[in-house]
Amino acid sequence: MSNLIGERFSRVRDQIRLAEEEAGRASGSVRLVAVSKTRPATDIRQAHAVGQLDFGENYVQEALAKQDELQDLPDLIWHFIGPIQSNKTRSIASRFAWVHSVDQLRHAQRLSEQRPDTLPPLNVCLQVNISDEPSKSGVTLEQLPDLAAAVALLPNLRLRGLMAIPAPGTDPVGQRIPFTRLRNALEQLKLEGLDTLSMGMSDDLQAAIMEGATHVRIGTALFGPRSG
Ligand SMILES: *Cc1c(COP(=O)(O)O)cnc(C)c1O
Repeated sequence: MSNLIGERFSRVRDQIRLAEEEAGRASGSVRLVAVSKTRPATDIRQAHAVGQLDFGENYVQEALAKQDELQDLPDLIWHFIGPIQSNKTRSIASRFAWVHSVDQLRHAQRLSEQRPDTLPPLNVCLQVNISDEPSKSGVTLEQLPDLAAAVALLPNLRLRGLMAIPAPGTDPVGQRIPFTRLRNALEQLKLEGLDTLSMGMSDDLQAAIMEGATHVRIGTALFGPRSG
């Protein structure tokens, strides 16, 4: 078995450490969520073997199948990062520790109602349409305070912070603008316990860390290009 995945993980971890240092942030303050959508369970197993615990998935059916295959690895932490469909909330509520992509109150209400009593509250981030793209998921900055206030009241959810997928930026300076905006939006929410900025992917993780990302969601740089 090749250890290409192991090498890629070392490289990305080094990149994160360097960016933390450059940003003047504590080493280890950024958590790496390995985005394993479209990848087989064997890739996740190889990543786990080099110490990776947090994995992000976009498609519920695909994720459940891999979770079943990986039941012998009980320390995996599953993050749902894809668009939420109402008929999938029960699976998300029972099989994930985190959801980064809540952008509607009715989805949050279902997740809270369907979160099993045997599990701790589901960690939730609100997805913000930070580049204001008409076709994209995410709550607008204008609607964010009301949604956050309502989600914070739901008993079986723990509102942790905000997530965004900015429109691809070209240069490192321009990439930072939407991340600054997300950080400011988090700071302006007057709610207890918000500690999470889920932002930064393979092509903009450095810019995101400079702007305060606490979770970066990395796929391609860890597992190689997705074939589709
Ligand atoms: C696919 C995906 C990622 C990872 O993107 P890469 O460019 O492959 O690192 C991160 N976040 C979300 C929401 C995704 O859908």
